[in-house]
Amino acid sequence: MDYPRPGKHYPRSVGEFQAWFRTDADCLDYLEWLRWPAGFVCPACGQDGGWRLGDARFKCTGCGSRTSVTAGTIFDRTRTPLTVWFTACWLFASGKDGISALSLKRTLEIGSYQTAWAMLHRLRSVLVHPGRERLTGVVEVDETYIGGKEAGLSGGRAKGKKVLTGIAVEIKEPKGYGRCRMAPLADGSSASLHPFVTDHVEPGATVITDGWQGYRGLDKLGYGHEPRSQRAARARGEDASKLLPAVHRVASLAKRWLLGTHQGSVDDAHLPSYLNEFVFRFNRRHSRSRGMVFYRVLELAVGHDPVRYGDIVAGRRPRKVPPTPPLARGKPPSIERPRANRPWRS
Ligand SMILES: [Zn+2]
Repeated sequence: MDYPRPGKHYPRSVGEFQAWFRTDADCLDYLEWLRWPAGFVCPACGQDGGWRLGDARFKCTGCGSRTSVTAGTIFDRTRTPLTVWFTACWLFASGKDGISALSLKRTLEIGSYQTAWAMLHRLRSVLVHPGRERLTGVVEVDETYIGGKEAGLSGGRAKGKKVLTGIAVEIKEPKGYGRCRMAPLADGSSASLHPFVTDHVEPGATVITDGWQGYRGLDKLGYGHEPRSQRAARARGEDASKLLPAVHRVASLAKRWLLGTHQGSVDDAHLPSYLNEFVFRFNRRHSRSRGMVFYRVLELAVGHDPVRYGDIVAGRRPRKVPPTPPLARGKPPSIERPRANRPWRS
């Protein structure tokens, strides 16, 4: 298995990061390698091969259309220099808990909070890649209320609604947890809970829930369903809240992360993208190299459709256009990096 290697495919340290990405040209070179590892492929007609026009722009030898490395990615048409984008991405990926918009603004010394906030939202928007695999094996599923603070109009904080959130966590034998998924739910009815399970859990898995009626019927959807009765647990003198320890652990970590890194300043409209970031981090919590996480975020970023500011401001969700997955890897760019196959997706 050809894993992306530290020091070859991605920087091992902040020193290496700084040495690799001194100029926007260095960043473009890296993005070009991530996006078109086997050489330019025309996004308009799909044909291989093009004329290099300079500035990382290409002209297709087939249809003649011109495109740039950043066209169609989250870096498209932003006024922010790529070196600043890369530093933001490094801070986003290298911190175990990520970074808040306020810290990013201060660290990068960029003028506007809104710019920092929008950059982080663009990065968050690429974290869920289309076609990611559903959870398997034994999976705990529950729902809980998350969030509940909104920026008040007069500068204080008004109490907002908490958002009902579905949580699914893989249980490992003999102990420990695997991957998790989280998503807001309209309500606790089976009309909301069943799609949450089918979206995030592979049929054939064993789904453990509490005794709530909204989970009834999962067995007819192809799951082994093990409801655990809170009433029966109480009757046995057990703590009913410990029926589903994995989802409770993940819920409390997510709440702590929102309050810690983001000081709870997460409004309902953006909660889904913060949940995506939390899930991305949780599922990579054993990753020894933060540089690898940086590589992964950028790789997702160049495979992603552009996200415009209008798509991420309050009340609007990012478009659901599936990005084109990057094709097989190929030639190294000017920095000598070997070919990376990608069997290590999770
Ligand atoms: Zn073309």
